[in-house]
Amino acid sequence: MRQKLVIANWKMHGNLALNKQLLAACTEKLSSLKNVDVVVCVPYPYLAQAQSMLQNTSIAWGAQNLSKDSDGPFTGEVSANMLKDFGATHVIIGHSERATAYCESDENIATKFMQAKTHGLIPILCVGETLIEREAGVMQMVVAKQLDTIINTYGASVFAGTIISYEPIWAIGTGLAASAEQAQSMHKFIRDKVAEYDQTAASQLKILYGGSVNPQNAVQLFSMQDIDGGLIGKCSLNAQEFEGICQAAVR
Ligand code: PEP
Repeated sequence: MRQKLVIANWKMHGNLALNKQLLAACTEKLSSLKNVDVVVCVPYPYLAQAQSMLQNTSIAWGAQNLSKDSDGPFTGEVSANMLKDFGATHVIIGHSERATAYCESDENIATKFMQAKTHGLIPILCVGETLIEREAGVMQMVVAKQLDTIINTYGASVFAGTIISYEPIWAIGTGLAASAEQAQSMHKFIRDKVAEYDQTAASQLKILYGGSVNPQNAVQLFSMQDIDGGLIGKCSLNAQEFEGICQAAVR
């Protein structure tokens, strides 16, 4: 039985004062929730603030990207070990907003995935299709290709203990979430694909859904067999809505 998991992706939002309020509200509302793990992925400069406010609570914290290199002359980059210095346990890899804006290739994303894993961070790998790809009926092919880049380079066993977030690009920030059936069907496809190579990794793998999740649609989405929780953008910036989503995961 996989414990449900809800991850906040704050994106490039917040400041010291707002974060303080949001983190305080989250710890107050969420610390006592049983049967759901909660992680908050903050912008790099606020990792120290997350560390100081979340340590000794049940909420973990992480980042939204990392360098594909361990160390060296890479101006502006942040390494896995730097994230660990601030107590981060998780890192989002290959979010479509980054993949699109910064031309991150599947190969680059695969390297970052392994960089996180080998340094003891839990990668949250984002996969998903565009609206054109869904309308053309090739969404499984697109997601399979994203996974194959990792499987063909490192083997499917690397997915053990990691997280995949299915985030249809057309659902991110649009208010138009995938239906529970659409999401379940893709989640099952992802789990079955990993299971073709490694049954244990597939059964342990947490597969989250991301894309316009709110407290209302979360109830049905999280009731599906292969949906292990959510990656939450907009609603994670509102303590009440984020709590509602975490409550839906507990049900
Ligand atoms: C995201 O960007 O990871 C996301 C799921 O955003 P939103 O919840 O705002 O659609």
